Amino acid sequence: MGKNGFETNCRSLGGALILVIEDEDTITEFLKTGLKYEGYRVTIAKDGVTGLDYVRELDPDLIILDIMLPDKDGFEICKRVRRRGSNIPIIMLTAKKEISDKVKGLDLGADDYITKPFSFEELLARIRALLRRSGRAVESTELRVVDIVLNTETREVYKGGKKISLTPTEFSLLELFIRHPRRVFTRETLLNRIWGYDYTGDTNIVDVHISHLRDKIGDKPPRLIRTHYGVGYAFYPEEGK
Ligand code: CA
Repeated sequence: MGKNGFETNCRSLGGALILVIEDEDTITEFLKTGLKYEGYRVTIAKDGVTGLDYVRELDPDLIILDIMLPDKDGFEICKRVRRRGSNIPIIMLTAKKEISDKVKGLDLGADDYITKPFSFEELLARIRALLRRSGRAVESTELRVVDIVLNTETREVYKGGKKISLTPTEFSLLELFIRHPRRVFTRETLLNRIWGYDYTGDTNIVDVHISHLRDKIGDKPPRLIRTHYGVGYAFYPEEGK
């Protein structure tokens, strides 16, 4: 990492540039790793002044903005960005259950907020929606694989033309698998991405949800969602029936 925490990912120059303004290392690392994996370019600013400089210099496609920062708070940053006439999509990170923070953030021109601790998949869904809305990234809202159609906007899922009803967790699992065919996800990675970075419960919960998901999509051997014993799960769209 360079000076002032500045960093870009040169391997995916085509991806939208996301500026993360946050001083907490656990969260910036979590976001950087996950977002880069999804093909986004990521720049981190660890304080508000650096963040504002980057907004001007780099013209990011989206900003993830924490409220608690060492110098200026997130509200101040948001206000300043909007005062300059910029309409860059802003997602604010708010503390647990601070409803007033959410309202204040939205009043000041933030587009969305997410409550800490958050699930990475939930954040990704919001990023995709905002990038789509702002016209900064063109992405289909429909994912199709074998006879499954998953709409990321309406969150509806069809299997062989018939609508099936998934819980939010099952939906996130299926979306993650479809977006990353053949990648083996460990239970820990799935917990991290879907349940959140601070989930501390039993990893068996993953098996329970996968089992329900398989039932609902009628996943019979040879399965679409296959178990890698002792490791985790992977999705094989080309071999499933
Ligand atoms: Ca912070």
